[in-house]
Amino acid sequence: MIEEIKTINDFNFKDQTALIRVDFNVPINKYYEIMDDTRIRYSIPTIKKIIYEKGKIVLISHLGRPKGIPSKIYSLKFLIRYLSEQLKTTVNFCENCIGQNVLNKVSELKNGEILLLENLRFYKEEEEENMNFAYELSKLGDIYVNDAFGAVHRFHTSITILPKFFGEKKCIGFLMKKEIQYLNQFLHGKGKRPITVLLGGAKISSKIEIIENIINFSDHILIGGGMSYPFIKIKGGNVGSSLIEKNRNIEMILKKIFQKYQNKMNIIHLPKDVVIADSFKNEANTKIVSIDSIPNGWMGLDIGPSSIKNFCKIIEKSKTILWNGPVGVFEFSNFSLGTRSIAKSIANITEKGAFSLVGGGDSIASLKMENCEKKISYLSTGGGAMLESLKNKTLPGINAIIQ
Ligand code: AMP
Repeated sequence: MIEEIKTINDFNFKDQTALIRVDFNVPINKYYEIMDDTRIRYSIPTIKKIIYEKGKIVLISHLGRPKGIPSKIYSLKFLIRYLSEQLKTTVNFCENCIGQNVLNKVSELKNGEILLLENLRFYKEEEEENMNFAYELSKLGDIYVNDAFGAVHRFHTSITILPKFFGEKKCIGFLMKKEIQYLNQFLHGKGKRPITVLLGGAKISSKIEIIENIINFSDHILIGGGMSYPFIKIKGGNVGSSLIEKNRNIEMILKKIFQKYQNKMNIIHLPKDVVIADSFKNEANTKIVSIDSIPNGWMGLDIGPSSIKNFCKIIEKSKTILWNGPVGVFEFSNFSLGTRSIAKSIANITEKGAFSLVGGGDSIASLKMENCEKKISYLSTGGGAMLESLKNKTLPGINAIIQ
């Protein structure tokens, strides 16, 4: 499918203005220091190519959820210094995304210059697939480039409607190309075997459909964290007060998977033991028990030592690994051992030549806790978009470029 999509390599940007939808929605602290700049760093090659070809650049992005209300907290202004340093050039800024002020600033741009616009979500129209807002934005460039993988699963104006105004002159940037290529290779079972997928986290509804899609080419599917309890419950185990997402569909989907793939059940690995707590806090009393006999009033908050051993053993024999979602409440230090052990194990095996693809803010954060994120083959910049792709869905932002 990647062959059908135009990339920025299909265009020469000399004297052209590129309107680039980036995802600069990066985590920041109260001093506006960037805590993780992966998303920006991965988009730099896209911007540099256009500078090199002497094109002009208008950058559009969102930050956080300001819900249509402009505010200092969500302003993108703090990025001016960071971008200027990274790109070694002056980065101009405009407080508006549409209107005469921004049109004037765009017309003043010289070849190789950059204009960063304020947060797109200061306009409520951004999240409403609004034709007029898209039309006004479309006046700001000659070629539309989408390099915002983290937002490509959203039906938002700058993702799905804006490209319609560019006819043939629309494409994806280098970050998007890499994400699509890696995920496609993985989904076509092209990874070296054994192929292992680890799904964790709390929202089973966002991941359950993936299992059906990968079960036929995966060698191992490891299920951890809050994802595992519905499996245990349906098998008749007692999960006490452990997290079970309330959604009637999940039970139905699980039953269907159990029936349809009876002969594949040996590749789905659930934790055997868990660390349970008598309340949802770091200082709770804890015990280690079998995952299917959690006493009432207790909840599983991390995988136990023999599950860690089993999961890591499987990971360490794998040649391709995809990971999304923590195997416990890793935000509490007393329940983070499982997730941190997984992170280290994936990093180790990557160093030995395996290919690893990790997505989701929590999984990436746990790699950082262990200082091993740089060892991973590819950190996906979009957890949600990665999950949607793994369900074999063509993402709305990619569709908008193909059409
Ligand atoms: P998700 O967005 O679905 O990947 O969920 C991530 C969240 O799952 C993290 O905040 C974890 O704390 C949480 N989580 C993982 N395991 C458990 C568990 N056993 N019980 C409750 N929450 C969990």
